[in-house]
Amino acid sequence: MSLGLYLHIPFCAAICNYCNFNRGLFEAGLKDRYVDALEQEILRAGKGESADTIYFGGGTPSLLEPGEIGRLIAACRRAFDVSPDAEVTLETNPETSTLGRMQEFRGMGVNRVSFGVQSFRDSELRKLGRLHSADRARQAVEEARTAGFDNISLDLMMWLPGQSPVDWAESVEKVIAVNPEHLSLYLLEVYPNAPLKDEMARAGWSLAPDDDAAEMYLAGLTALDRAGYAQYEISNVARTGCQSRHNLKYWSDGEWLGFGCGAHSTCNGARWKNVSATTDYVARIAAGETIAVERRELTPAERLEEALFTGLRLTNGLDLEVVGARYGTDVWRRYGADLQPFVDQGLVRHEGARLSLSRQGMLVANEVMQVFV
Ligand code: SF4
Repeated sequence: MSLGLYLHIPFCAAICNYCNFNRGLFEAGLKDRYVDALEQEILRAGKGESADTIYFGGGTPSLLEPGEIGRLIAACRRAFDVSPDAEVTLETNPETSTLGRMQEFRGMGVNRVSFGVQSFRDSELRKLGRLHSADRARQAVEEARTAGFDNISLDLMMWLPGQSPVDWAESVEKVIAVNPEHLSLYLLEVYPNAPLKDEMARAGWSLAPDDDAAEMYLAGLTALDRAGYAQYEISNVARTGCQSRHNLKYWSDGEWLGFGCGAHSTCNGARWKNVSATTDYVARIAAGETIAVERRELTPAERLEEALFTGLRLTNGLDLEVVGARYGTDVWRRYGADLQPFVDQGLVRHEGARLSLSRQGMLVANEVMQVFV
């Protein structure tokens, strides 16, 4: 199986009030040093292994200049045997996008754009501290189309403060009108120290009840079904042939290398994480020091568990014979007694060698996955 290459770009033009990612404010000088360091890390790591996806995630990767993205793609191609038809994704924030930049990114070899839109309602975007408006998001998608991108993904978030199921339905209808090839639907998680939490308290915004969140999820997916999208993972839908090849590696027991600060890798039965702080990462690369922290070999039991609970996120679920052969175990014999109650409730399907979650089951996926850990 070919590797996925993930490149982390930790810079943002402003920090959103709910964000818990590894990111910081854009600084031109630090960004220049970071791109140099990232290029060096890639060139040092690659030994000509085959790879078929490159994913620029962040942060806001579209804050880099097209030439810098081109340099990093070239480094991947020098260090790895990157297939000519590799999927090359750039996470992009709508406010950073112009037709000219989109054309240049495309010229550098990017062939998939993932826009962080989050909502098509301006009042919700303002609450989240986002810099773009719904109109800017629509224009950005059009610019990407004009630049020749035929594989565009949008992120939408549901269960926003004060958002009702009707508000959510409006965002879903608007995203359908924009007609992207791929969509990711996330539930907002307000972590304990998020500035959004204080703002919610001050402004008296509350989250809709849990039942409404479930209703939003199911209604959103039903609308997307009707519009011709096929759900392929708990949070992801796509037009035929437009599933994220990179993200599928995370859910189908694949291998990937992560480059940049805080990036994770899973390869050859081991897992490691790079040092998180951007300046520390740059300094260590410059000094030729190791950047990998928290490295450990995964035990066969851990690898099996992970293959099971990530694979179950996929709509097609798991082929128990394939997983069983790979890990030398009879999966149903081992876990069947604990899974059967979920099967009886219609939350899990066990058909032949296939094990998958029903859509209702996806609402309680964490509970089902406890069986494996
Ligand atoms: S743009 Fe994305 S990574 Fe940056 S602060 Fe906002 S949510 Fe976080």
